[in-house]
Parts: sequence; C-alpha cells; structure tokens
Amino acid sequence: MQLNYIANASVRSTSGRTLPVIDPSDGQTYDEIQRSDAHDVDAAVTAARQCYESVWSKLSAAERGRLLMRLSARIAEHVDELAAIEQRDCGKPTKQARADALALVRYFEFYGGACDKFHGETIPYQEGYTVFTWREAYGVVANIIPWNYPMQIFGRSVGGALAAGNVCVVKPSEDACLSLLRVAQLAAEVGFPAGAINIVTGYGHEVGDAMARHTGIDHISFTGSPRVGTIIQQVASERHCPVTLELGGKSPQIIFADADLDAAIPVVINAIVQNAGQTCSAGSRVLIHQAIYEPLLEKLGVAFSNLRVGPAAMDLDVGPLIRATQQQRVWDFLSDAQVASIPMVAQGRIVDEAPEAGFYQAPTLLRDVPVDHRLAQEEVFGPVLSAMSFRDEDHAVELANATQFGLVAGVWTRDGGRQLRMARRVKSGQVFVNNYGAGGGVELPFGGYKASGHGREKGFEALYGFTQLKTVAIRQI
Ligand code: NAD
Repeated sequence: MQLNYIANASVRSTSGRTLPVIDPSDGQTYDEIQRSDAHDVDAAVTAARQCYESVWSKLSAAERGRLLMRLSARIAEHVDELAAIEQRDCGKPTKQARADALALVRYFEFYGGACDKFHGETIPYQEGYTVFTWREAYGVVANIIPWNYPMQIFGRSVGGALAAGNVCVVKPSEDACLSLLRVAQLAAEVGFPAGAINIVTGYGHEVGDAMARHTGIDHISFTGSPRVGTIIQQVASERHCPVTLELGGKSPQIIFADADLDAAIPVVINAIVQNAGQTCSAGSRVLIHQAIYEPLLEKLGVAFSNLRVGPAAMDLDVGPLIRATQQQRVWDFLSDAQVASIPMVAQGRIVDEAPEAGFYQAPTLLRDVPVDHRLAQEEVFGPVLSAMSFRDEDHAVELANATQFGLVAGVWTRDGGRQLRMARRVKSGQVFVNNYGAGGGVELPFGGYKASGHGREKGFEALYGFTQLKTVAIRQI
C-alpha cells in the first residue's frame, strides 16, 4: 500500500480510506493509494509552512541549488526503477517511461543551476533615490498535477517552485501517483528538509479542492483540463491566490506544399501517437495544403496502418490509454465521426497479446474534418488525428486559429519569409518550424494562449511566475 508523504515521513490518510491503483495494460488492480481529504491537506500545508519559515527561506540560493542538483543526480541513479513504476502505473511504453524519468533528471539539473542566477534589478530613478527590486518566493505552493506526464510535470512545476525559493504541497492525479511518492523519498535521502516536498494523494474534488481553498497556500500551479482549471481559478480568486494554468490544446501541424515531407511524416505521426495521444501539446489537427492533400494523406495512411498498439512492457508504438473512461471518451468521438460521415483514412492495429481488459485504442487518421466539428475543436486526448486541407497562407492561419485553444503549433515549409509570418500570426504559446516540440527542451518556456491557460512554466521564465516582485525605493537623507 502506498502512503502519503508529509514532512519526510510516509503516513496514512486521516480517514484511513484508500483508492485502487489499476494497471492500464491489463485493467487489473495491483496496489492502493491513500484517499486523502482536507485534514491531510492541512497537515501537509502546516509541515510546508514550518519548513519554509524555519529552514527553506533561510538557505542561500546556492545551497538550494546544490540540493536540487543532488536530487537530480539521485534520480539519475534511479531512472530504471522510476521508469518501471511509471510504466505500470500509467501504461507507458518503455521508451516513453524512460524519457519521462530522464526529463525529470534534467529539470532538477536545470533548476538547480538556475537558483543563484535569478535576481532583481536596479532602476535609475530620481536624484537622491536608490531603487531596486527583489524577487521574493510566495512561500507555500500547491502543485496540482495530471496523470499524463507525472514525472515531467512534477519536474517543471515543483523544480521551478523550489528553485524560486518556495516549498511544495503536491497533489498528483488519482490515476498516477506512484513515481512521485518515490521521488519525494529520494529527495529526503539527499537532504531535503522535512516539509519542503509533500505529496498528498486522492481525488481532485477532495484533495485538490481543499488545496485551492486552503488559506495557507500562497500560489497554485495547476496543470490539467480547462474545466478543472476554471473551477480552481474561481475558488482561488475568492482569496486572491495567484494561479498558473497549464491547460489543454488542439494544436495544428501545418504543412505547406514546399515542405520536406519525408522529414515531416514521422514527426507528424509521433506528435499525435506519443503517449497514446494523451499529451496536452499533441498535434491533433494536421492542416495540409490542397496541392499535396491527397498524396500526403495516402502516405500518412500507410504509416498509420503500420502502427502497433499493445501492453506497455512490449514497448510498441502505442500503449494503452490511462483508464476505461478515457477509452470511452475516445470511442464517443469516433462514433460522432461516423454519425457525421467523416471518412477514416487508416487505423493502426492492436496486437493479439493485448489483454481484453486493457484500455487500448488503435491510432486513427480521419480526413475532411469540418472546422466546426468537435473533432476539430475539442481535445480527444487519444491517438486520433484530424486532417483538413487549406488553400493558401491566410486560410492556413484562419484554420490554425479557429479553436478556443492556443498551446503549440507546427509549421512545415522551406520558405523563410513564410516561416516567420506563420510564427507571428498563429496564436499559440509555442511555434515549431520544421519540427514539433524540439525534443521537449526543459529550457523552453511553455504555456498557453486563450483557453490553453496563462502563465509560463519550464525554462528560466517559470521563475518569474513562482515569485512576486517587491520594489524598494530608498531616499538618501
Ligand atoms: P484534470 O483536470 O481532470 O485533473 C488534473 C488534476 O486536477 C488532477 O490531479 C485532478 O485530481 C485535479 N482535480 C480534479 N478536480 C479538481 C478540483 N475540483 N479541484 C482541484 N483539483 C482538481 O486533468 P487530467 O485528466 O488529469 O489531465 C488531462 C488534461 O491535462 C488535458 O486537458 C491536458 O491537455 C491537460 N494537460 C495540460 C498540460 C499543459 O502543460 N498545458 C500538460 C499536461 C496535461
């Protein structure tokens, strides 16, 4: 049984209730986590506050940095173990689970190095004044994390918050807690003081809601769905608690006729099948210039039908979805596509070894998806790619921007002028030209335009979001 981690100790929830841990590859329960509530959140916030006031806020930036670096090194020694935990908990193929663990190593390395390079400014003001700014930590940060990339999102959210001088109360998704509970133990082993990283598991409407309401929490870093992000922002606004929202997307991959198609095809496919399409920045719409629409769809169709889906441990192209309700959600989208007579170009294959009770979905390529259909507007969060054609640059921009979201965009063209024009005109927090995601780079600020959220995490930029600015003006007398 897995326990909460509060003040460097493994503890049961106050109520003693638990939730099952299910392996998405076979649908079977194999462990339990604590089903915590407001009492457990309160205990974690008290531990965090004590740590902040008595230890963490007194460390120098360099000392904090060294601790983060030490955690990075310790995680590096445990990559295989963490990847195995994540593989079973989340149904991730081995390559993906390892990539996530390695990204966590890199986040703590990056933020460890950033701690003592982050500072305020002096401002040339009037004669007789000395004016400067301090970047001050908020204090206790709540990190509310989804199930799709627990380690990566912990790395960027908790890594950034700690580097900026805060302590953390973390709520992982009820569907993906195990790797983070282990990381918190590793942090204690390398010398993190009790209360710096606390993990409280349970449901969002119980633990997450209690965190959003808790007056001892000074800042909320939320990554998850637009629906829950809206609720949290509303709740937190009642006590004027600042919130960073990293929400969903319906990101376009835009392919012009002059693109290097051989380079584009594997990238376009990976952008939608990575993590079984359960990626906020998934390239879930492919916009193709009309001159190459048919030949490119044909090639994409062949590649889609070669994709293989199976148990995470088989390390195929695609693993299972996280849970039965997610599988049902994808099925609902696909049956809506049928009702609307949206043509299917191709589907991958679920291998025979995949247990009946696992949550599998074959990757699916659809074409001629109308721009106002929910398949072109809403996050499926599964391996479903919607293709549509465009006439010219203006039309491509119009389609790209025609959703409520604005997280990421990919543009494929050899024309340098068009690369810059598209990067300027597409409304999203990141634009990639002739690639998609740039390998994930922890250094690259990330976040949404429009309903994809506000605030930025990753990179140095995150440190601004995890601090508040104080201006000090001293008059010489
Ligand atoms: P979710 O919104 O259902 O849950 C996210 C977290 O919020 C979980 O820990 C959940 O328990 C908690 N939660 C749920 N209800 C809550 C409430 N009322 N109060 C407080 N907390 C609550 O999202 P999910 O299904 O876990 O993850 C998928 C979503 O996350 C997708 O929309 C995806 O696009 C988004 N996401 C965004 C990013 C990004 O960086 N923009 C990254 C990953 C995932």
